[in-house]
Amino acid sequence: MPNERILIVEDEKDIQELIRYNLAQAGYRPTAAGTGEEALKLARRQPPDLILLDLMLPKMDGLEVCRMLSADSQTRHVPIIMLTAKSEEADVITGLQMGADDYMTKPFSPRVLLARVKTVLRRKRRAETGAAEPLRRGELFIHPGRREVRVKNKSVELTFSEFGIVYYLAQHAGWVYTREQIVDAVHGADYPVTDRSIDVQIVNLRRKLGASGDLLETVRGVGYRFKE
Ligand code: CA
Repeated sequence: MPNERILIVEDEKDIQELIRYNLAQAGYRPTAAGTGEEALKLARRQPPDLILLDLMLPKMDGLEVCRMLSADSQTRHVPIIMLTAKSEEADVITGLQMGADDYMTKPFSPRVLLARVKTVLRRKRRAETGAAEPLRRGELFIHPGRREVRVKNKSVELTFSEFGIVYYLAQHAGWVYTREQIVDAVHGADYPVTDRSIDVQIVNLRRKLGASGDLLETVRGVGYRFKE
């Protein structure tokens, strides 16, 4: 049994209960919040292993919740999957920029939800237990065990996926990867994420890495490469 703690943030009671039921059936320990304020309180009290975050919430919306979770050192490393309606496509980009790791468009089947949850949690576990060697590339220093990135010895705050992307590309400097290959490597195979998430996260990474941002090169028509 997996046993990980998952926080569901959803104001629609039917959907909240459907998700909660399916996660509990699969052996997870779900808790639910109906508002953003309540979600922040629960997440800060005891950071969960994963957060499923509805974007359309009363008062504080999901994007604001996402921003606050990413700004808080206690909750920054908790993966976030946004739950969105079709009409909220534009918000998806904003959410990814604010630190969410991925999104699912409603309605989704319990089977798809569980597959996605399982993949994200497996990725998180692998990241936590990996005792890989730190990397240095120019002014950039990456410590996979501590999930720490430094540029000119100054700590850079990255989300879970951003870290995965830069670490993966830096490990194989000089090699070109397609968006699909990056998705497979970072999220695990068969992960139904769009190429767009990778593009948005590369833009975020370049901005956050400042002077070292140009180490991430776009290879026109192919994908991305870490400069040798
Ligand atoms: Ca809602």
